[in-house]
Amino acid sequence: MKGKLFVIGFGPGSFDHITKRARDAIQESEVVIGYTTYVELIRGLLTDQVVISTGMTEEVSRAREAVRQAERGKKVAVISSGDAGVYGMAGLIYEVLVEQGWREADGVAVEVIPGISAINSCAALLGAPVMHDACTISLSDHLTPWELIARRIEAAAQADFVIALYNPRSGRRTRQIVEAQQILLRYRSPATPVGIVKSAYRERQRVVLTTLAEMLEHEIGMLTTVIIGNSSTFVYDDKMITPRGYQRKYTLTADEQPLKPHERLRKENEPWALDSQAAAREPQAQCGRGARTPFDWAAEALRLLQLAGVGVSAAEESAASPAVSGAAPGGSAPAPAAAASTSAPAGMTAVSAASLASRDTSASAQPLRQELIFECAVSPGLANKKWTPAQMMLLAEVAGERGEIEYTPHHQMILRIPTADPSVITERLRAAGLLLMPVGDVVRIKACDFCDGEKKDAIPYAEALQQRLGGLTAPKELRVGLNGCGMACYGAVQEDIGIVYRKGAFDLYLGAKTVGRNAHPGVPVAEGIPPEQLVPLLERIVARYREEAFPNERFHKFFKRVGEIEGFAYREWTAVQREDAVCGS
Ligand code: SAH
Repeated sequence: MKGKLFVIGFGPGSFDHITKRARDAIQESEVVIGYTTYVELIRGLLTDQVVISTGMTEEVSRAREAVRQAERGKKVAVISSGDAGVYGMAGLIYEVLVEQGWREADGVAVEVIPGISAINSCAALLGAPVMHDACTISLSDHLTPWELIARRIEAAAQADFVIALYNPRSGRRTRQIVEAQQILLRYRSPATPVGIVKSAYRERQRVVLTTLAEMLEHEIGMLTTVIIGNSSTFVYDDKMITPRGYQRKYTLTADEQPLKPHERLRKENEPWALDSQAAAREPQAQCGRGARTPFDWAAEALRLLQLAGVGVSAAEESAASPAVSGAAPGGSAPAPAAAASTSAPAGMTAVSAASLASRDTSASAQPLRQELIFECAVSPGLANKKWTPAQMMLLAEVAGERGEIEYTPHHQMILRIPTADPSVITERLRAAGLLLMPVGDVVRIKACDFCDGEKKDAIPYAEALQQRLGGLTAPKELRVGLNGCGMACYGAVQEDIGIVYRKGAFDLYLGAKTVGRNAHPGVPVAEGIPPEQLVPLLERIVARYREEAFPNERFHKFFKRVGEIEGFAYREWTAVQREDAVCGS
C-alpha cells in the first residue's frame, strides 16, 4: 500500500483562515511533519497523529522524512504556514521526490493544498494594497545570491510592481532590508506608502502604516511581511489602497474623478494600452494610406532602455536615431517624476496622462510612472459671463502646451493640466478674479447674468448658495439653477433644482430630467418663498440628497424614490396638453 503526501498551507495562523480541505487532510493524516512553531499553531486541530517537528533550518530533513514515511504507506501531512508553494515545503518535497525518480503514475500520491499566503493575509489587514500587479520577493540570501535578489528588487521597483517582501530581516540578516530600501528609493517616492505586518492573524499581530522613507524606524523581523505600494498607492483613513486602474485625475476638492463606466473602455482613455501605442507609433498605417514606415528597431530599443531606466548617453542616443526626440534625454531620471504622487493634495494620489497623453506624440516614450492631471472648472463669476482678454490669455498660459481647455454648456471652462502642484495655477487664476470649482459629482450652482446686472436683487442669494453649497461632493452631479426674473431665460427650470426670483420672492422647481431624449423641466413645487428662507431650505434639500441618495442616483430619481423632500411631494411631470379650441359654437 502506497502512502500519501499532503503538502498543506495552513494560512496565516488562525483556525478561521485554514481551508476546509487543509483541515480534512490534517484529520486524515497519520503523521504530521513541520517546523516546531507551525506545529504549535495547528496543535488544536490534531487528534492522534504522530507529530514530527524540527527546527527551522531542517527543511531538507523534514522533506526526506515525509517522503520516507509516505513510502512506508503512511498518510503524511507536511505543513507550511501561508501557502506551501510560496517559500514553503511544496518545492522541496518535489525536489526530494525527483531525486528518487518518483513518477505520479506509480509513486506515492501527492496533494498540494493551497493556503492563504502572507501577501494576501497581510494585504487584507492593511486595506487593499495589492490590487494591481504585484510580486513577492524574499530577502533571505541563504539560498539565493544577494546580487540576484537586489536585481529583482530593482526590476520590480522599476516596473512599478506592488512588492511584498518576505523574510525581510532576522537576527543575523539585518542589512538586506536597508539595501532593499535604498534600491526602492531610487525608483519610488520616499512618501510611497509601506505596510508592515507582523504575525498576521496570530496572537501578537501588529499592523503599521508608514512610508518608504520611514519604514526602517519600525520593528521588522522574521514574522513580518513588508508591503511596498506602487506609484499610485495611497493611504486613506489608515488604509493602504492601490487603485485598480491607472486612470485618475484630481480636482479642487482633491477627490478622485473616476471615469464613468461608459467611458472606461474607450480607446482615447487608454493611451497606455498596447494597441494605442502601436497606433501612435505607426501614424501612416493608421490612416490606411501610403506605404508603412519601416519599423525603427534602433529607436524602439532605445525607447525600451529608457523606459527601463538604463542610462543612454546623449551621443549614443543621437547615433541611434533622431526619431526618439520624445524620449527623455540621456536615459531616465526616475526619482523626480516619482515624487509626483507625494505632492498630490492630501488624501489623494492621482495618476496618469490619459486623454492628454494620447494627443502627445511622445506619449509612447513616456516613462512608466504616472502623471497627475489637475482638473478644475473656471468661470469669470456666477453672474458675470464675460471673460476679459487678460483672463483668456492667462487661461491659455496656465494650460500650456499639454493642457486642455474644454468649453462646456455649464457656464464654465474645464481645465486639465498635467501637474502635481496645482497651487501655482489656482493662485494665479484666483488673483485674476476667476471663480474655480471642482469637477465631477459635485453641487454646481448656475445663475443667469441678471440682465447684465440690471436685475440684481437675487444675486446675493445666488452667491450665498455658491458659498454654502457650490462644489460639495454629491452622489451624482447636482445642478442648481437660479434665474433673476420670471423670464428665466437661462433655463433654471431645466436644472435638477430650479429657482426663479419673481415679485420679491422665489419659486422652486424640483425633479427636472436634465438630460436624455425625454428630458423635461422640473415641476413647480412652491411659489413665493421668502428670500431669507431660500438658502436654509436649499441646504436642507441638498443635505438630504447627499445623505440618502444612492451612488450615481440623479436628483430626479431620488426625488421620485423618496416621494417627498422638505414637505414637497413628488409629482410626475406631464407635458402641457393643448386642446384645440372649438370654433364657431
Ligand atoms: N509560506 C509562507 C511564507 C513562508 S516564508 C506564506 O505563504 O506566507 C516566511 C515569511 O513569511 C516570514 O518571514 C514573513 O515574511 C512571512 N509570513 C508568514 N506568515 C506570516 C504572518 N502570519 N504574518 C506576517 N508575515 C508572515
